[in-house]
Amino acid sequence: MTGPLSAATPERFGERLWRINRTTLSAALAIVALLLIISRFVIGLYALVNTTELQARVLAENATAPLMFEDPKAAGELLQTLHHLPDVRHAALYTATHQRFAQYHRAGEFPATAEAPALGGDAGRVVTLGRSEVVSPVLFKGQLKGYLHLSVSLRSLYLETLWELLAMLGAALLVLPLSRVLLNRLNASILGPLEGLDHLMARVSDASDYGVRAQPVDIIELDQLARGFNVMLEQIQERDHSLAAHRQGLEAEVARQTAELRQAKEAAEAASQAKSEFLATMSHEIRTPMNGVLGMNEMLLQSGLSDAQRGWAESVQASGRHLLSVINDILDFSKIESGHLELDLVAFNLGDLLAETAAMFAQPARGKGLELVTDLALQDAQWLLRGDPFRLKQVLGNLISNAIKFTETGTVTVRATLGTDHPDPRQAPATGQVWLTIQVEDTGIGIAPAAQHKIFEHFRQADGSMSRRYGGTGLGLAICRRLLTLMGGSVGVESMVGRGSRFTVELPLQVTQQPSATQPVNPPPHTPQADAQFQGEVLLVEDNLINQSVACLMLARLGLRVTVAENGRDAVEQVRLHPGFDLVLMDCQMPVMDGFEATAIIRRLVAGSGTPLPIVALTANTMQGDADRCRDAGMDDFLAKPYSFAQLHQMLARWLRQRPDQQTMEPPPRPSPKSAAPAPAEALQTINTATLDALRELDPEEGSPLIRSLVDAYIGMATEAFDALETAVQGQDLLALEKTAHLLKSSSANVGAEKLHVGYQELERLARQRQIAPATALLGRLRLEHRQALECLRDLLETA
Ligand code: ADP
Repeated sequence: MTGPLSAATPERFGERLWRINRTTLSAALAIVALLLIISRFVIGLYALVNTTELQARVLAENATAPLMFEDPKAAGELLQTLHHLPDVRHAALYTATHQRFAQYHRAGEFPATAEAPALGGDAGRVVTLGRSEVVSPVLFKGQLKGYLHLSVSLRSLYLETLWELLAMLGAALLVLPLSRVLLNRLNASILGPLEGLDHLMARVSDASDYGVRAQPVDIIELDQLARGFNVMLEQIQERDHSLAAHRQGLEAEVARQTAELRQAKEAAEAASQAKSEFLATMSHEIRTPMNGVLGMNEMLLQSGLSDAQRGWAESVQASGRHLLSVINDILDFSKIESGHLELDLVAFNLGDLLAETAAMFAQPARGKGLELVTDLALQDAQWLLRGDPFRLKQVLGNLISNAIKFTETGTVTVRATLGTDHPDPRQAPATGQVWLTIQVEDTGIGIAPAAQHKIFEHFRQADGSMSRRYGGTGLGLAICRRLLTLMGGSVGVESMVGRGSRFTVELPLQVTQQPSATQPVNPPPHTPQADAQFQGEVLLVEDNLINQSVACLMLARLGLRVTVAENGRDAVEQVRLHPGFDLVLMDCQMPVMDGFEATAIIRRLVAGSGTPLPIVALTANTMQGDADRCRDAGMDDFLAKPYSFAQLHQMLARWLRQRPDQQTMEPPPRPSPKSAAPAPAEALQTINTATLDALRELDPEEGSPLIRSLVDAYIGMATEAFDALETAVQGQDLLALEKTAHLLKSSSANVGAEKLHVGYQELERLARQRQIAPATALLGRLRLEHRQALECLRDLLETA
């Protein structure tokens, strides 16, 4: 049986119906035919046997006379009448003693037996497969006279049966095709509606058209099916409608919630904006008067005060500074936390950064009787890196300040190294990067192991009692760690209580300019003849007289001819008149026409000449984008001011031919403030005479007069420029302040005024950042330094 779930081959409905119909019809016909034929055969046989008996009895009555009169002829004639009955095979008449008296047999049949057959006594009958035999007694008045034997063939009965069978078969052959035709018509009436439903279903599933409906059918079951189908479609349609309505509701809900979220986000942004504005306002509102207080107090300190008054004013100064640093810390911390702190990406010299930071702590260290040592290899000091020097200084300053604060006796050592290998090999630097490692080591109180990890959390200190003694907010290291994380670096500590601490900073930085590999770390002895290494003519574009003199000295020492232009327009004119320059050294900030504009014009001028004219920017600005700006303006290289003799040489070696006899020589190291190992901060001098000596050595014969005129020029220029600074501060003219500080910055470095150089650098930064109050305070402090430096220089002039 083929169940609905069996894997039988599917069959069309019509085919299956026909198969069932054919089988049923054939079986029914066969059974009917069989019953009919058998019953007809049995009835026929019964009638034949009865007829045979009747015939035998009639013949036996008629045979009495011939037997009694022993007339065989008459008996033979009587039997001969049987030839009208074709089924009679043979007949015989026997005497009472069973002797054959007369006989008849159909042609081709065997004659009757000589003796009467014993068929169960005097009378009897037998039916075999082929015939029916009857023996009937011949009686006369109850006396037996003889026997009559009649044998009839069953052949005609068989023939009749066969004929009926054939008729049945014929009827079956006629009925089956007829039934097929009828069935097909029946099928059509069922399959038509079914196919209609099938098409409808295909339309629903293919086109998702739930609006169609099945037509009513005149077959009840199919009609029910169609109705069921229609009900199902209606339900789907209804569900679709409610789903669509639900979806619309959801969309509206999502839109509403999105709008609410947007509003919330805007509100949060507005709150954050308000917070930033609050921070900015607070920064201004608190720091500005604070700086005013400090500036005024400083003036007060410089006026004639009694000892007691001086003591009070100094307390005001110390407390004010402390308050300012606490406010700065809190502001920095909030800025970092709110994500508002933006890092600069500018070029800076590592040696300078370290020296300047250490210089800020020279006085406090000396005040506590501590030795502050900086340790940086010359090679590393000359790297020009890119990063945020201001924030790096802040981190370093914090560590040095802590080291000094928590150390009573001994040394604070600041050690910096640059390397391309990181201790953790997974942290290999990206291309163009180096790892800066700075260690600040002290011989102070140390930090207990349990406290070492928590000191980097905000408002956490190692030991409450100690901190009460030493003060502090517990924010410094938290700011350091967060700043370093922002810069991609890290800070850690190793410490032993009572022995000291070592804080290690690791920071990846981009490299802007790398010292050449051949440069020796320790300067070899000076060989003047070896210096005239280059050939060619250089156009020096520089408005500052002091810088001009120093550059001329160095360039001449290296064997170069120098033409000086005082501003950009002058430089353009020079290039137009003398097309033979081999190199242009271009200051960027100049009156009349700046270096960028001049470069652009010179580039156009020499474009057609076919000979490249390298232009190298000379700039004291290390602000973000300066190097890019120089490059964009068409400059080929960048030399940060103030530069050392070695740095100048190194840059020239990239752009100029060397004398044939000098080619294998090492670049000449020059003792100059920037090429020597950075001085420990506390060793920063008002006037470092080594700088001037080094310049003098550049030209042993002409050196002294040259230095005199240089120093003379500086004194004149600095006096005027300092007045200009004062005027700018009074008039709150930040631009003039920035420009003048910039001018003084590199000039001061050139005459060895180290403290002033650092001070003016800071002043320039403050002016650029529009911090007028700290700038005013700083200028107050620089005034004394300025006077002292000029005095020193005047002394030098007198003794030289
Ligand atoms: P502050 O110094 O303002 O308290 P910091 O975050 O800079 O905050 O330092 C947190 C704490 O870490 C300090 O209070 C001190 O207990 C400990 N600490 C920092 N530096 C040193 C050091 N060099 N020697 C000993 N303890 C230190």
